[in-house]
Amino acid sequence: MLEKVVIANRGEIALRILRACRELGIKTVAVHSTVDRELKHVKLADESVCIGPPPSTDSYLNIPAIISAAELTDASAIHPGYGFLSENDDFAERVESSGFVFIGPTADTIRRMGDKISAKIAMQETGVPCVPGSAEPLTDDFASNSKLANEIGYPVIVKAAGGGGGRGMRVVHSDDELADSISLTRAEAMAAFNNGTLYMEKFLTTPRHIEIQVLSDTHGNAIYLAERDCSMQRRHQKVIEEAPAPGLTEEERKFIGTRCTDACKMIGYRGAGTFEFLYENGEFYFIEMNTRVQVEHPVTEYITGIDIVKQQLLIAAGEALSITQDDVKITGHAMECRLNAEDSDSFITSPGKITRYHSAGGFGVRVDSHIYSGYTVPPNYDSMIGKLITHGEDRATAIRRMQGALQEMIIDGIKTNIPLQLRLMADAEFGKGQVDIHYLERLLESQK
Ligand code: ADP
Repeated sequence: MLEKVVIANRGEIALRILRACRELGIKTVAVHSTVDRELKHVKLADESVCIGPPPSTDSYLNIPAIISAAELTDASAIHPGYGFLSENDDFAERVESSGFVFIGPTADTIRRMGDKISAKIAMQETGVPCVPGSAEPLTDDFASNSKLANEIGYPVIVKAAGGGGGRGMRVVHSDDELADSISLTRAEAMAAFNNGTLYMEKFLTTPRHIEIQVLSDTHGNAIYLAERDCSMQRRHQKVIEEAPAPGLTEEERKFIGTRCTDACKMIGYRGAGTFEFLYENGEFYFIEMNTRVQVEHPVTEYITGIDIVKQQLLIAAGEALSITQDDVKITGHAMECRLNAEDSDSFITSPGKITRYHSAGGFGVRVDSHIYSGYTVPPNYDSMIGKLITHGEDRATAIRRMQGALQEMIIDGIKTNIPLQLRLMADAEFGKGQVDIHYLERLLESQK
């Protein structure tokens, strides 16, 4: 087993990783910025190292500082969590070349999947269905771009090969917009990801976002842990996630799940990962692979009873999966609401001191959060302050339980999106299930 793990992250996921390590008897090292000394996991970790000032570029993205912390504390492995360096191939490479275990796939896999064009090519080769479009970088030649767009059929979406976080993409409806859209997206992609490579695919108008969670070990075993539906999005960012996906049949699950595990075996995938798909008219279209643990992993844990973070640690320690595909059974339904420090109507972030905090609880209620009374949410990072997850025998029960839990939650001193989540849980269309990825934005627009 791994002896000591550096948790190269902050907030709720750092706490989540710490808890999994503790259960496995693994010692933990928290690395944190100067503004994060008071984080819950920093207090709970066996050791902690300050790695720099508040800006992430100087701390949570500071590769030499994190590696030094691992050396200083004589750690054996580094868990990157999500966001920050979790999908940075250079980081993975430097972690391993410095003699530590990187808790995730190899640097080569991250590189291949991090470039959406090479990921798409890899998926096409392994038989995973993809969105129709080019698997070639776009040039600046208008005639060939227009020819491609018309072959695919408008509307198309121009996407950055190195994009992430819902940024670096633009929908194009006709030839008139094409040249400008390409140059704008390229400039944005250059600025945000230092990579102006673009590609084009069909813009699906009313898809759902359905993703498959996989676990793949270093002994050639791979399993899928059913799917999650993350269609409730604002600005391409997930707001609510659930599992299983409403209405998906066992045949569909098996069809797409098997394609994903086959792909894992073919590319030699290591660790936990997620294949993201758009789903429309009964068809799956691959959009990208996330080579890390995801924010929404708890809904899968609830319906399968499998601890995904613990599995990550076991796989990283070189153990073979002890769970087979036949062991994976779905029980009930789980729902997750992301809790953000932001105004429910304007979405303006609301950092500051939490003067009073009372957590929801009860049967089938899970709170993954690092906040506490007296904790100050710093303005420097993502506004997510936690996740509320509920589980019930069916979807309606999970929703009702979520409504109760949201009402129980008291977070004073800052604004949160709890009022919005309560509205969404009471929404009739959402209640029916199977809304598409644009539903939430349409709803918010209509309520203005
Ligand atoms: P990121 O890495 O930034 O999350 P993704 O490729 O996963 O980017 O896409 C994020 C979201 O953008 C999707 O969940 C979906 O809402 C939208 N999107 C991406 N590609 C398409 C497409 N071809 N058609 C329609 N919507 C898309």
